Amino acid sequence: MSTRITGTLNPWGAVSQARRVRSYQSGRICSHPDCDTILSIYNPSKYCTVHASLAASGRRRSAPRPIREVACEQCGTVFETGNQARKYCSDRCRMAAFARRKRAALRAESRLQKARALQAVVTASDGRERVGSAA
Ligand SMILES: [Zn+2]
Ligand SMILES: [Zn+2]
Repeated sequence: MSTRITGTLNPWGAVSQARRVRSYQSGRICSHPDCDTILSIYNPSKYCTVHASLAASGRRRSAPRPIREVACEQCGTVFETGNQARKYCSDRCRMAAFARRKRAALRAESRLQKARALQAVVTASDGRERVGSAA
């Protein structure tokens, strides 16, 4: 087995490619509400250097999110939220809905088990109905 590199490797080509630094839109300003530092086109962040570290540290101030009105799936109360995934007005409703779903699932499960047990009794008592064991 011999691997042959066809063509010549151009070292200058590699360098010029490395030099092509990614740049970002110009004229952007820091996303921090109290800051209008113009961001460098080489800065991939939405914040200036000062606020980028602040944002990275997790203490993000009220991020502008689209607020919408949602009816609670548990009690029907209309509430406002910026969280697209939120379905309940409160933790109480969330828990209640969760418990209700769990109960329903348990009920369905026990019904299924009862039906199965009943069927087992029927098939066991009636020899002609026995499935899968042909003597
Ligand atoms: Zn800033
Ligand atoms: Zn609710």
